[in-house]
Amino acid sequence: MSRIHGFEVRLSLLTFALLLPACGAADDDTSDLARVLSDSPDDLERAETLAYLHLDERADTLLAGVDELWTERVVVDELGMSHTRLQQTVAGVPVFGGGAIVHTDALGAFDGMTDGLLRDLVVDTTPTLGEREAVALAVQNVGGWGSLSDEPRAELLALRHEGRDHLAYRVELRQMGHAREPSAPVVFVDAHGGEEIWRHEGLEHYALSTANRVTYDMNNGTDFGAAVVGDSSDATLLQTHDSVKHTLAVLSKKLYRSSYDGAGAVVHTYGHYGNAYVNAFWDSGASRLVIGDGGGQFGHFGVLDIVAHELGHAVTDHESNFTYYGEPGALDESSADIFAAFVSHHVQGDGGWVFDIGEDCWLPLDPSVALRYMSRPSDDGSSRDHYSTRYQGAADNGGVHFNSGIANHFFYLLSHGGQHHDPALRSGLVIDGIGIEDAHAIWYRALTVYMLPGTGFTKARLATEKAADDLFDASVVEQVEEAWYEVGVGGPP
Ligand SMILES: [Zn+2]
Repeated sequence: MSRIHGFEVRLSLLTFALLLPACGAADDDTSDLARVLSDSPDDLERAETLAYLHLDERADTLLAGVDELWTERVVVDELGMSHTRLQQTVAGVPVFGGGAIVHTDALGAFDGMTDGLLRDLVVDTTPTLGEREAVALAVQNVGGWGSLSDEPRAELLALRHEGRDHLAYRVELRQMGHAREPSAPVVFVDAHGGEEIWRHEGLEHYALSTANRVTYDMNNGTDFGAAVVGDSSDATLLQTHDSVKHTLAVLSKKLYRSSYDGAGAVVHTYGHYGNAYVNAFWDSGASRLVIGDGGGQFGHFGVLDIVAHELGHAVTDHESNFTYYGEPGALDESSADIFAAFVSHHVQGDGGWVFDIGEDCWLPLDPSVALRYMSRPSDDGSSRDHYSTRYQGAADNGGVHFNSGIANHFFYLLSHGGQHHDPALRSGLVIDGIGIEDAHAIWYRALTVYMLPGTGFTKARLATEKAADDLFDASVVEQVEEAWYEVGVGGPP
């Protein structure tokens, strides 16, 4: 640990141990290309040291009003650029959603900082409420100990919420396997007064935004401990199993990424969940994929694009780690849909229509009906697809599914070209389109090196412009700008 100009620079060697190669998956035909140029501890440590030196030189402008930073992760990418991801702390307490990524070019020169730092926090970092008391209050607020399926987890942090700073316990609660909709509420309890500051849902659902009349029966099959290994004679489980296989193959062969975490994690998928459960979700707390059998109008949810969507959430959790609320939550949902489209593109081959999500679980199978449409998001009846029409209420975790349509339509326009699907919202520009391959490369690079837990639409535009500039020429950057402008995020290029 060393101290530079009041900054505690902690070269956390642990991060190096966690940074495993992005290639080298079990598949025999993995390309010899790699998304990561170097993962040698020496190179990473050099990159990290350089990042801190650059920061130190610019501390007056970049770090005014910021207490401390810790290194979370360092990546030296395939262009030789480095990206040092930093977690902000105040008097040793992590700042919720506060962080930055420091970039260097291939020669080690400073190449900007992705800034998600919260400045001039005013918070008394010595709690007057104990962790156990805070947990007890949170549990009481969600329905008591009897509603829980797992031990709560709590963490002390500094939180800026609606313009006010708090010292808070972030309490993760899990309500799985009871006669109710599975839920994983995240409750923030003030560490001084004990009041609940904020709460959001932690499960990343594949929500049925077109079906508001579904009711659930959770009486059977929700005890994960009782699950047994499935058999391939079961067609539903077999299809689910294949969907995971195809998704992992795209991660490995096209993104040079070994599983969702980049470190070869085994994907645990639970099919036939509950009784006629009409949904699927990635349960990040337990790192498992849960698939319902559907019912009524819906077949089972183990189809390719839904499985890819859920595993897209798992990838995102290991990269930008968007807060699942408001604009970052909408980008989380969109990122999962974008990944699903990319996976479908590679599994179906060129020429197939990949911009509908969930068309394969509608019954009877009708390719024109889907859960979400990236080419015309608002046609599902609840998605928004222009920033001016964005949802700003508190439902749906602050509109995570309603507003994902904005970035989904951006991605569609960038890939496919054209104009906004709603003539009333067109800017007058016509986007050429760069193809899904290049559009995804831009999104994935932005997600992995330029996006943070608190990134919203404005910063997502900046992140994708920077990624496009790194990978392609100025004409592509201009199309990125045009596509965002067409969905109302920022001005014309
Ligand atoms: Zn989702």
